Amino acid sequence: MKKDGKKQNKTRRDTRIVGAGLDPEANSGIINPPVYHASTVLFPTVNELKQAVGDPFNSIYYGRFGTPTSAAFEEAVAEIEGGEKAIATSSGLAAIACALTAFLKSGDHLLVADTVYQPTRKFCDGILKGFGVETEYYDPLIGGGIAALIRDNTRAVFMESPGSLTFEVQDVPAIAAAAKERGVVSMLDNTWGTPLFFRPFEHGVDIAIEAATKYISGHADVMLGVIIMNEAHFKRIKTVTVALGNSAGPDDCYLGLRGLRTLAVRLARHQETALTLARWLAERPQVARVLHPALPDDPGHELWKRDFTGSCGLFGVELQPVAEEKVTAMLDGFELFGMGFSWGGFESLILPMEPKYSRSATTWEGKGPLLRIHAGLEDPDDLLADLEAGLKRLA
Ligand SMILES: *Cc1c(COP(=O)(O)O)cnc(C)c1O
Repeated sequence: MKKDGKKQNKTRRDTRIVGAGLDPEANSGIINPPVYHASTVLFPTVNELKQAVGDPFNSIYYGRFGTPTSAAFEEAVAEIEGGEKAIATSSGLAAIACALTAFLKSGDHLLVADTVYQPTRKFCDGILKGFGVETEYYDPLIGGGIAALIRDNTRAVFMESPGSLTFEVQDVPAIAAAAKERGVVSMLDNTWGTPLFFRPFEHGVDIAIEAATKYISGHADVMLGVIIMNEAHFKRIKTVTVALGNSAGPDDCYLGLRGLRTLAVRLARHQETALTLARWLAERPQVARVLHPALPDDPGHELWKRDFTGSCGLFGVELQPVAEEKVTAMLDGFELFGMGFSWGGFESLILPMEPKYSRSATTWEGKGPLLRIHAGLEDPDDLLADLEAGLKRLA
């Protein structure tokens, strides 16, 4: 395996996933990067010490700034996501918080999609508000209409598509373009789209964020986030990330990089199984609606088809109105679907959801209980049998 950036760029995506971030020649020919546990970095001369201090972005300088292990992970994610640089953080939420903090100060205005991941909302309504930043939530379906909400003090527009819990697809290119026209930075939480199925930079986004905890790591064991951006924004965000004391541990970066190698094959299976389950559920009398943008009658389908090249394992199901204890019986009795929050691992999950508690610019119109399903890597027929038995418990 030769490390040759130009050669890599000509290859197709799945080939690049295999080679990204590798440098065996720098490591005795060993294919994977070593896990460097490091706080102290020694400098043999005053001259080298001065050089490192003068250019902390490009030198191994102090553990908090990164190690060759985090650098390998960052290089690989930047390449696969299509950005120039990446910064690994201790979690997906840390990536969101660091990216927002880098662009906002007291007196600024921030636009955030009403359907963002709830802890993102909590960060805006708690920490940012306390620091004098005003967050305005907007209808995720606003599209180019966002232009009317941009004020002279608006500094950032934050998107997440599809939205958490309710899966609304945003017109990301239109929103990013409106922001750009006013010189406002645009950010996208791309965790559902993954670096494979949505290409943020080709759609005009300035800063992409992945909760690598989810599919990039993919095995339900790692907390890891990553911010991806072009050179223009890198130093600003890295300065803030380091100033906030945030960094990603070397073992987690190593596992993130290992997960990345199999992202394409895992996602193909998550996607196929989720579609199988979603189509089957859509036909069941106990189901009012399936919320999955890859299904042709989903309200977000046209935008999804235009902008995405695939879908992951996460989708929603609205049941017909039914007594709460029946839903509890359904959920308590599953044999394969576990109840847990962090999706993107190998296992199937199901959770009851209450979007009304995390919306302010829009209202959730669903009448029946809403469930969020993550299709794991189990045999899809076993998952269908588990779901079928679960729906019987609603009777
Ligand atoms: C899980 C998640 C996050 C947060 O990631 P953590 O690593 O758990 O902090 C952010 N955004 C979305 C859409 C998520 O699903």
